[in-house]
Amino acid sequence: MRRAGRRIGFVPTMGYLHEGHLRLVDRCRELADWVALSIYVNPLQFGPSEDLERYPRDLERDMTAARERGVDLIFAPDDRELYPGARTVVVTPRRLADRLCGLSRPGHFEGVLTVVAKLFAIVQPDVAVFGQKDYQQALLIRKMVADLDLPVRIEVAPTVRDPDGLAMSSRNGYLSSEERERALRISRALADAVRDYRAGAQDAGALRAGVLGKLEAGGGVDVEYVEVVSAEELEPVERLGDDTLVVMAVRVGATRLIDNALLGSPDPGLESLV
Ligand code: AMP
Repeated sequence: MRRAGRRIGFVPTMGYLHEGHLRLVDRCRELADWVALSIYVNPLQFGPSEDLERYPRDLERDMTAARERGVDLIFAPDDRELYPGARTVVVTPRRLADRLCGLSRPGHFEGVLTVVAKLFAIVQPDVAVFGQKDYQQALLIRKMVADLDLPVRIEVAPTVRDPDGLAMSSRNGYLSSEERERALRISRALADAVRDYRAGAQDAGALRAGVLGKLEAGGGVDVEYVEVVSAEELEPVERLGDDTLVVMAVRVGATRLIDNALLGSPDPGLESLV
């Protein structure tokens, strides 16, 4: 494909594909002539007490869904193929990984960047598409590509939500129906934050307190963090602006969920809740 001068697009995933992944495929098709999708549950990015073993997997179903959506190549390596021996070199972020999800998941972003760098080297895409749902991840990948001059364009596509507002995730299947009802506080709190911002709210501390209060009201949601930060540096802000990111991680039962909204440009699924 490369010799034929075709533009190669790439969508890395951990599989158990849902519409969020498939929208990345759609975006990739708009930007490339030929689309590769990887499915790999990367052990390097899971902590010792995390859900690596029970992470959902269904390769047959994924292959059908990907093919139906027009994916040209599926790369589903196993651990021995990607990590055949002792690791001597990894990609470690110096900045931006010491906050938000990095606090509770030490080594997580090192695992992500290392596997994404390897996948880029193997697939050699012209463009790769990531989801805004994993905002900190997409930002760190953009920084890696810039700092290491990797010859790939990074595209970030909006978060895809179920009609009730819950951001799609392979982990949503862990939720019981009561837990799912509680999880809806996440998108509602984000939509309220966008609405307050549009109504003239300026104080980041007050906005953060409001979001936290809505998440915790009624109990049963364990907030890991809620932060109101600048989109490029992930630094807490005092005054809200279009490039302010409201970002959070919460636990509902045993399931860890993340979500975020850029106040100036919330995703379409959130817009409909505002
Ligand atoms: P994962 O399989 O969860 O590692 O995700 C693979 C890619 O899909 C990452 O770039 C994610 O950000 C993206 N992704 C996952 N869920 C969503 C979603 N609901 N909307 C948009 N992108 C998503």
